[in-house]
Amino acid sequence: MNFGSYRYTKAEIDLDKVSYNYLQMKNHVTKNTKVMGVIKADAYGHGAVEIGRHLEHQGIEYLAVAVLDEALELREAGITSPILLLSPIEPDTIPTAIQQNIAITVFSHPIAEAVNYYAEQTNQPVTVHVKIDTGMGRIGVRTKEDALTLCQTLKAPTINFEGIYTHFAEAENTEDPSFTQQQFKLFTDVIRYLKNEGKTFDLHHCSNTAAALLYPEFDLDMIRTGISLFGYHPDKALDDLIDLKPVMTLSTHAAFVKEVQAGETIGYGRTYKTDKAETIATILLGYADGIPRELSNRWHLTSGDRKAPIVGRICMDQLMVNVSDFEAFSNSNELVFIGDPDKGHPSIYRMAELTDSFHYEILCGIGKRIPRVYL
Ligand code: PLP
Repeated sequence: MNFGSYRYTKAEIDLDKVSYNYLQMKNHVTKNTKVMGVIKADAYGHGAVEIGRHLEHQGIEYLAVAVLDEALELREAGITSPILLLSPIEPDTIPTAIQQNIAITVFSHPIAEAVNYYAEQTNQPVTVHVKIDTGMGRIGVRTKEDALTLCQTLKAPTINFEGIYTHFAEAENTEDPSFTQQQFKLFTDVIRYLKNEGKTFDLHHCSNTAAALLYPEFDLDMIRTGISLFGYHPDKALDDLIDLKPVMTLSTHAAFVKEVQAGETIGYGRTYKTDKAETIATILLGYADGIPRELSNRWHLTSGDRKAPIVGRICMDQLMVNVSDFEAFSNSNELVFIGDPDKGHPSIYRMAELTDSFHYEILCGIGKRIPRVYL
């Protein structure tokens, strides 16, 4: 289904802010270190095609997605930048990745064998990035000897050993950086060992946004950044390290406004009861749009410098807010759910805290039926 113009609710995506954030990161990292834009999960809910295209125009050196469908969507949209698949590829889809010139993460012996098999069969160039698990415990080979065997399995002449990488488990932990430092050491040990065995790579990369902000010495040939591009820090505590501008403004207008008397209840389960006459607005946003239901009776939207508290349980498609404090509330008032805290909009860090969630999760969860409008 194509969701478009028939809604009060929209997510405005300010592409100038994407450029700003990208340049902030680009200028932060070591000269000559490339930047890979991680735009998986539909660019963390911002729209992968538009963000990918925009970053390509900005000159980003590399893009990354999780799964092949996401990479194909970018290629179909005409994006020609190098693209790396970060998650495991399904072996029988390797020929499609090869045909579309998508770099494959090789993280296990069965995958190495499958990649080698299809490289020999198709006789086409195949770009690989070898993944080392230095402590994330997700994918990757875990010893230097295993890494060497894996490289030796990839013996087809068309294989291009472009990259080798690892991923940090807690780079944002500034209180105890020892695990991150240990991961980096293990990674560089593997690189050195492979080099001595004659296996070299053009792109060594390990830093996500948190590591790129905290450890310039880990920049190597490329950093992989996702969250910064969308204007957020991996952890609120890192926000004085670099200025970033939130890219998405998720806003709406009231679809219905009414006066209720004291003692009436609002919504499922009757969890909110008015203690005086109140003005209640109903808006077209619900948990099916990614609004966490745990925010029922605990959060607000903003309109200018006013807060409109959510009252009653958030429904699937609608929620109600109390706008009694507004002087003359009407459906021309814009109500913001996600935006720029510097402009008084609600903070998604706080929202994530309240719901025991994570700001990445809130962004990725913003539903597909909310139209993205690009500025
Ligand atoms: N690298 C890998 C392998 C990832 O899985 C991710 C995101 O989860 C990133 C880099 C980007 O992380 P961030 O958005 O924190 O920069």
